[in-house]
Amino acid sequence: AKLNGKNRYTVYSEELDGDQAKQSEEMVRNLQAAIELDQIEVYYQPKINASTEDIMGFEALVRWEHPELGIISPGLFIPLAEQSELIFPIGLLVIEKACRALKQWQEQFKLPLTMSVNLSPIQLNDKDLIKKINRIIEETAVYPKHLDFEITESEKFKSVKDALLMFKKIVNLGCTLSIDDFGTGHSTLDYLRKIPAKTLKIDQVFVKNIGLSPDDEAILDATIDMAKRVGHFIVAEGVETEEQRQYLTSKGCDYFQGYLFSRPVPASEIDRILTDREKILKKN
Ligand code: C2E
Ligand code: MG
Ligand code: MG
Ligand code: MG
Repeated sequence: AKLNGKNRYTVYSEELDGDQAKQSEEMVRNLQAAIELDQIEVYYQPKINASTEDIMGFEALVRWEHPELGIISPGLFIPLAEQSELIFPIGLLVIEKACRALKQWQEQFKLPLTMSVNLSPIQLNDKDLIKKINRIIEETAVYPKHLDFEITESEKFKSVKDALLMFKKIVNLGCTLSIDDFGTGHSTLDYLRKIPAKTLKIDQVFVKNIGLSPDDEAILDATIDMAKRVGHFIVAEGVETEEQRQYLTSKGCDYFQGYLFSRPVPASEIDRILTDREKILKKN
C-alpha cells in the first residue's frame, strides 16, 4: 500500500520484491522484539553554552543495543520504525526515559538543565500525542519548559497545516521547539516564519565546511544573522574542532553540540561527567 509521496511504502507493499519484503518483515519483527526486551536505549549528548562553556542540557539520541550486532544507530532503524508504526512506541519510550533522566540530573546536581528529544514527522499522526506527552510530563514531574522537541520540515508530513497545529499544541503545553538540520533537506524560510520555535540548529554540513568552503561559510554567517534577527537561539551541531568553535563563537552562536565536547553517551556516563563538573567547581 502506498502511503503518501514517493518512495514511501508500508513494509508489506507488493511493490517491493519478495525477498526485500521478507527481509523488512523480519527486521520489523526483530525491532518489535527489541522493544519488548528493553534493548532500545537512550544516549545523551551535552549541549554547551558558548559563553560560559558549561553544560546547559542534552539531546536524547536513541540506540538499539543488539546483543549480537552491538549498538545500532538510529539512521539504520528509525526509517524502518517509521514505516512500520513502531515509531509510536519507540518515540514515547525515548521521551519517557529522557524525562526521567533529566529530572534525576536536575535534582541531583541542582541545575536547570534542558532535554531535547527528536520528534519524527510520523509521530504527528498520533491523535493522542499531546495527551501522551502531557502524561509523561506529569508522571516524571519535569517542567515542560525544560523539555524541547527537535523537529524537521519533512515530505513525510501528511499535511503541513496539521503539523503546524500539532507544533502549536506542543508549545501550549509549555515545551519548546527547535528546528533541526536547518539548511538541508526540506527546511525553508517559510517554515521558519510559521513554526513557533525558539531555537534553530544549524546542520553539521555547514560546520564541517568552516575553513574549507567560503560559500558554506557565507551561508552559515547569513543563517546565524537571520536567526538572531528573528529572535531565535542558535545551536551548532557537529562541532569537532577548536577552529570551528572559535569561528562559531565569533559569529554569535549560542550553543554547541559535538564531539569536541562529548559524543552521545549512556546515562551513566552523563552522571560521571556531571559529578566531575561538580568536583572541579568545588575546588575553585
Ligand atoms: P540529529 O537529530 O540531527 O542528531 C545529530 C546527529 O549527529 C547524531 O547522530 C549525533 O550522534 C551526531 N553527532 C553529534 N555530534 C557530532 C560530531 O561532532 N560529529 C559528527 N560527525 N556527528 C555528530 P545519531 O545519534 O546517529 O542520530 C542520527 C539521527 O537519527 C538524528 O539526527 C535524528 O534525526 C535521528 N534520531 C536519533 N534519535 C532519535 C529519536 O529518538 N527519535 C527520532 N524520531 N529520531 C531520532
Ligand atoms: Mg536532533
Ligand atoms: Mg541535526
Ligand atoms: Mg540529522
